[in-house]
Order: sequence, then C-alpha cells, then structure tokens
Amino acid sequence: MRVYNFSPGPSVLPLPVLEKAAAEMTNANGTGQSVMEMSHRSKDYKPIIDKTESLLRELMGIPANYKVLFLQGGASLQFAMVPLNLAAGNAPGQGKKAAYIDTGVWSDKAIKEGKKYANVEVRASSKDKAYTYIPDAPPPLAGDAYYHITQNNTIVGTKWDKIPDTGSVPLITDISSSILSEPFDVSKFGILYAGAQKNLGPAGVTVVIIREDLIGHAPDWTPIMLRYDTHSTEGSMYNTPPCYSIYMIGLVLEWIKNLGGVDAIAKINREKAGMFYDYLDASKMFYSPVEKQFRSLMNIPFVIRETDEAKKTELETRFVKEAAAAGLVNLAGHRLVGGMRASIYNAMPVDGVNALISFMKKFEN
Ligand SMILES: *Cc1c(COP(=O)(O)O)cnc(C)c1O
Repeated sequence: MRVYNFSPGPSVLPLPVLEKAAAEMTNANGTGQSVMEMSHRSKDYKPIIDKTESLLRELMGIPANYKVLFLQGGASLQFAMVPLNLAAGNAPGQGKKAAYIDTGVWSDKAIKEGKKYANVEVRASSKDKAYTYIPDAPPPLAGDAYYHITQNNTIVGTKWDKIPDTGSVPLITDISSSILSEPFDVSKFGILYAGAQKNLGPAGVTVVIIREDLIGHAPDWTPIMLRYDTHSTEGSMYNTPPCYSIYMIGLVLEWIKNLGGVDAIAKINREKAGMFYDYLDASKMFYSPVEKQFRSLMNIPFVIRETDEAKKTELETRFVKEAAAAGLVNLAGHRLVGGMRASIYNAMPVDGVNALISFMKKFEN
C-alpha cells in the first residue's frame, strides 16, 4: 500500500512517473538496456537529457539567453559556486561585495559559505521573529556583484510573495523547494538553482538556470568542476552527469506537461495549500506560525496550541506517531524548529491533503 508521504525531501514522486520508470527499468525505449546502464555519451542517452532540458525550458519559459545545467553537489554546492563564479577575487579577502537576505536556515548556510569567497553583506533578516515572515528587501548598492534570496524557505514555511527588483544587479535565487510549483519569470533572475529531490525528481542532480553573461567570470584558481563555464561549454557532460536522475526529471516534467503545465499545477497547489491553511486558521488545536502574506505553498509547518512545553511535546510526538500509523508519514517538523510540517509538493495529491485534514480533525476531537 502507498502511504501519503509529507517528507520535505527526498519526497513524494508522482505514481505514474514511478510506474513508467518501473516499466522501463530493464529495457528503455527498446534499447535493451536500463537508462542506468547507458553511456552518457551514447546515442541512446542523448535524447533523454535533451528532452529533459527542452521540457524544462518549455514549462518554465526559460529565455534563449539562459543555459540549463545539470550538476551534482546539491543546492548546497551552489552556496559556494555562486560566490566563486560571480564574486571571488584572486586571493582570499579580495572578493567583490554581495548582498544576501537572511530568511532562514538555508539562506544562513548560503551566507556562511558565501563569506569564504565574497564580501558578503546581509542587508535584511527575519531572524528577529524566528523567520516567520519575509523582510523588506532594500535596493542593491553600487558595486554589488549579485543579490541572493531563498525564494521558498523549506524549514520555516515562508516564501517571497513578490520578487525584489534589483535593477542591473543579478538576482540569484534558491528555488529548491518551489521550482515548478507556480510560474516564475526567469528573466527577472541571473541564476536560479534547485536540488532535484524536493519538487523535481530523485536526489543526485541540481538544476542551475543561468544567464549567459554570468558565465566565465570565475578566477583561475577555481576548481574546474566548480566553474559554470566548464559545465556550460560541455553541455553538462564535462564528466559523467547523474544520468538516471536527469531521466527521472524528464518523466516528472512530462507528467506536469500532461496535467496542463505550470499554471495548472499552480492552481492545484493553491487549492491544496488553501484548504490546509483554512483548516489551521479555524482549528482550536493547531495553528500556523507564519504570517499570512508569506505562507509557502509547498511546506506548511504547524504547531499545537499548548503553553505547557512538556505537554506540547508529548502531544506533538503522539500526533506524528498516530498519523504515521494512519498512513500519513514524515510529518515531524525540522529538528531545528520542532512542531510538525506537511510538505505538499506537486506530487502530493489533493486526496492526501484531505486525508491529513480529516486525521487532524479526529485527533483534535
Ligand atoms: C533542501 C534544500 C537545500 C539543500 O539541498 P541539497 O540538495 O541537500 O544540498 C538548500 N536550499 C533549500 C531551500 C532546500 O530546501
């Protein structure tokens, strides 16, 4: 029996995608091979990576002057690659200035890593209220090499409701947990990056969408694998790419296209999140700690209204355990923030959200 999996990542994949992958496991496209067994440079594999890229371009409306790269190292490696390629100097301490907005754990990690290569300045933060809102983004300053935001904050459940206008300073964004959840105007950004394992496919591949003029500025000492120009020149085939994960992304993109594209999936996502927030806002027992304007469509943390900490922890532990027994799994909040969290990515069906709400009503009673 399949469960409803509310994991923040790696997370639920669409059942038709898994079934198609299973059917093709030992013999893909009549090649007599599994995609896992194919040479990445073979004529059998080429159409797979090409299809994945062209579907992503079509679904996200990626302009022609942007490259799509399939890299490894997770979104976490982009925390280093962005400053290395856009702001690093010839020696440590000589990096250019870079603006960051601190909206939670992942932006904080990007900031810490960025400081090794760039002259990082944190221009706004929502740390004062446990990251439950998105702060106002000040305009960039002269000399900023780039401006970094985390579009959707997976752990605290916030998202930027409007994208800041940074003028000619390239806006860089981490969309690991929100890629393809709703339309993005790619042309507003210099780089968008996402680890695949939240909303795109299995772990092991990171999608980087980068404007061409931002490629080729890494200092000479940059490791070859960490240079955007290496991967863009070689079509993500400087070395062996994560072939199977790229194939799986292709299947997920096909599934989205069949549903009607990003607008259609965004409509379903707004419906799912809307139902869940409506329930939380009306509940006597549970609530969302996030300010309404900034609530994520993908990751919804919630807590139990109880002032006695010990009793609260006991109730929350019981909730997560009983939910799992009812086939609603991975609802514990992030270890750093506690409480509960339902991640309702593209692949989570409306029925899964309904089942969770029904369970919560029963638990509340
Ligand atoms: C999960 C996540 C990351 C880390 O991704 P890895 O691929 O594990 O490195 C970074 N940023 C955000 C917003 C995430 O949700």
